[in-house]
Amino acid sequence: MNTRTGILLLVSGPSGSGKTTLCRRLADEHEAVYSTSCTTRPARNGEQDGHDYHFLTRAQFQEKIDTGELLEHAEVHGNSYGTLKSEVLTHISSGTDVVMDIDVQGADQVRACTDDAIQTALVDLFVMPPTEEELRSRLTGRGTDTEEVIALRMKNALGEIDYWPKYTSRLLSGTHQEDYTQFKSLLVAERLKVTRIITT
Ligand code: 5GP
Repeated sequence: MNTRTGILLLVSGPSGSGKTTLCRRLADEHEAVYSTSCTTRPARNGEQDGHDYHFLTRAQFQEKIDTGELLEHAEVHGNSYGTLKSEVLTHISSGTDVVMDIDVQGADQVRACTDDAIQTALVDLFVMPPTEEELRSRLTGRGTDTEEVIALRMKNALGEIDYWPKYTSRLLSGTHQEDYTQFKSLLVAERLKVTRIITT
């Protein structure tokens, strides 16, 4: 019987683009596994360690870097974020699709990664907020961040948007349902690729 290799669906986009919700929904509907990242930022209200993130101290994060456990890592909005190799490699090699929500610097590192399994699996998508006003309103509306944090995220978001031409696909965000339909279609189309089939 034919089986296929897993897909690594890498999603970037500024905070407020809606990408985390899209990735989570795909995972919740059992279409893919969500790669839970490590971060040194404090947990927001309602966030759970091990589900939303692995919340680490700076020292614990540095140890993950030193022991080579991270596939990529970057400083985002003043905190460290990184992907554990263990959240990705076993899944894609066993044919399970993984969805990862990481920033543009992390995406550069994954694209530059020389691991064959990663390169074969990689599909990258940039989720773009429709307008600057909409982005501002989404960042403010979340209600979990201070004015100062929102201002920093807005500034960073506008810088991140310049990176979209580096991605193979771009999704211009509309309603959540429209976004999800397109997002899922990308995964479904990738699953059909002959290059992913393992013939035994
Ligand atoms: P937040 O603090 O709002 O959850 O995430 C802030 C930013 O960090 C988002 O743009 C998100 O994509 C990015 N991010 C989350 N996890 C990772 C990761 O493992 N690596 C990198 N490079 N960025 C991440």
